[in-house]
Amino acid sequence: MNYDIARKRMVEGQLIARGIRDRRVIEAMLKLPRHLFVEEAMAAQAYNDNPLPIGERQTISQPYMVALMTELMELKGKERVLEIGTGSGYQAAVLAMLADRVCTIERIRPLAMRARKVLDSLRLLNINIKIDDGTVGWEEEAPFDAILVTAGAPDIPPKLVEQLAPGGRLVLPVGDQFSQTLVRVLKREDGTYATEQSIGCRFVKLIGRNGWETE
Ligand code: SAH
Repeated sequence: MNYDIARKRMVEGQLIARGIRDRRVIEAMLKLPRHLFVEEAMAAQAYNDNPLPIGERQTISQPYMVALMTELMELKGKERVLEIGTGSGYQAAVLAMLADRVCTIERIRPLAMRARKVLDSLRLLNINIKIDDGTVGWEEEAPFDAILVTAGAPDIPPKLVEQLAPGGRLVLPVGDQFSQTLVRVLKREDGTYATEQSIGCRFVKLIGRNGWETE
């Protein structure tokens, strides 16, 4: 298995062919060894066009979904970013290559621990991981220029909008437990916000005080 070739094919066939245009997103996903974020037995499938299980009944998102959500965040390099749902750590790594600082929250300890190890081995040192309920954000680290939720929310968690800086973007899947719509919340300078809808998607549940109650 030649991972470099598989990764190049993924970027061309799944991302560029479907309209991902942000050069920085493309470069980051071309560089980042996605196969290190899945279990060894599944490494050969890491560049396939689908999500994959990462244990604890959770998944690493499909590469196209990672690219699209990241593109919607419009990162230029100087941002403070928050991610809810660290999972494997792959999305956090992509964000870390495109922004100044990434804070990421995961509620399942073994996933957070494994993500920490991989991210450290790749020397991605601008990532802060917390084990907690991310539906209330990360008050001490706020405000954020961009926030990404990588689990399906029943509604837009108000605390996350609150912790967005003026001009900031919040990207998240909103819907029921079977299907959601990718939504982008744009916070204006005066604190009010507008929402835009992107494509349909299916994520695992966002569980917490401002999410779903249980799995
Ligand atoms: N971004 C991940 C994919 C995450 S899957 C990656 O790149 O691999 C969604 C993750 O969200 C799961 O690991 C799940 O445990 C986590 N999650 C669900 N509800 C959460 C909450 N309230 N706070 C933090 N993490 C949560």
